[in-house]
Amino acid sequence: MAEAKVINPDLDFVKEIINSGGESLKKCFQCSTCTVVCNVTPEDRPFPRKEMIYAQWGLKDKLLNNPDIWLCHNCDDCTKYCPRGAKPGDVLAVMRKKSIEENAVPGFMGKIVTEPKMTLAALAIPFILFLAVLGLTGHLGIPDGDIVYSKFFPIRYIEVIFISAVILAGISYLSSLSRFWNNISKGSSQPYSKGFFPALIETLVEFLKHSRFGKCEANAGRKNGHLLVFYAFAGLAITTIWITIYYYLPEPYKKHSPISLADPMKWLANISALALLAGTLLIVFNRLKNKGYEYRNSSFDWTFAGMILLLGVTGALTEIIRLMGVSSIAYPMYFVHLLFVFYVIAYFPYSKLAHMGYRTLAIAYSKMANRDIAV
Ligand code: SF4
Ligand code: SF4
Repeated sequence: MAEAKVINPDLDFVKEIINSGGESLKKCFQCSTCTVVCNVTPEDRPFPRKEMIYAQWGLKDKLLNNPDIWLCHNCDDCTKYCPRGAKPGDVLAVMRKKSIEENAVPGFMGKIVTEPKMTLAALAIPFILFLAVLGLTGHLGIPDGDIVYSKFFPIRYIEVIFISAVILAGISYLSSLSRFWNNISKGSSQPYSKGFFPALIETLVEFLKHSRFGKCEANAGRKNGHLLVFYAFAGLAITTIWITIYYYLPEPYKKHSPISLADPMKWLANISALALLAGTLLIVFNRLKNKGYEYRNSSFDWTFAGMILLLGVTGALTEIIRLMGVSSIAYPMYFVHLLFVFYVIAYFPYSKLAHMGYRTLAIAYSKMANRDIAV
């Protein structure tokens, strides 16, 4: 006779899911339609029905350390066909947010950044820091003459602040991902069919093509928006490194700010900024349009989209207003833009952008554990 298993439901966790956007959870009557219609679920132990049961039973450990919640691409096919309106796509999105919170290093940062009510507090940190730096170094006024942003916020201060933010965010992100990896792999009893690095390389190639997004039907438009945002960030990262190299080149090769609009670096920066705006707007419009079924986005999703949109808009305005020569607006706009740049960099490990690393590891794990699908 099989041994009886005692299940210890965490009722507080069920309440947390419900209060974080998974209020439809209790409607699920486990018909499994969602699992049948999902195009990215593996045949062996498929999702999302089992996750709906785990969530109803409050099995926190089984959910938050479950790589399958990261194989879901939030395409909403399951939500569209669920006969009970239980919105499994939304419930899995809440799980991913909770998983980031659970694995975040340090833990309190996960709670602050994944909680939209704390967004203003998160922005207040760079606001106070920038004001303090500018005030203490005598740069709080609007500089005279041509608009050159480094006259207002000297590059050496920007470097110290932003390089520190990149290093701290990098350490936190790697620590969070390492904790996540340990959690998902520690319970595995199955022998791996391939090694970590071959699985990781396959996953990264898929990632560059966003091929899994192509399997979504109800929300197929998400692929284009995501691809644009992904390549926009890659372009902006390249231009940031490029401009730093310009700054450190010896004379006469060194280039001073503002860089000419004809410079290839500026071309790449402007194209990336346009791609960021277009991609974010596509994601927002795609979410807003009526798809003929009830679904919902969490405030976590909207906060992230809003921050990225504000990053792109303030970046574009910073350049346009500088070209118009209106210094009284250009410098404050630059200041505001830097707040959003700081937000995206410093809080990356706890924001929706953190999905990249979690999802990459979960897909690589599914390939190693032979639970992959053909894409
Ligand atoms: S979420 Fe909907 S489709 Fe999935 S098992 Fe529950 S009731 Fe069925
Ligand atoms: S949202 Fe899409 S990918 Fe996620 S479980 Fe539902 S059908 Fe599958």
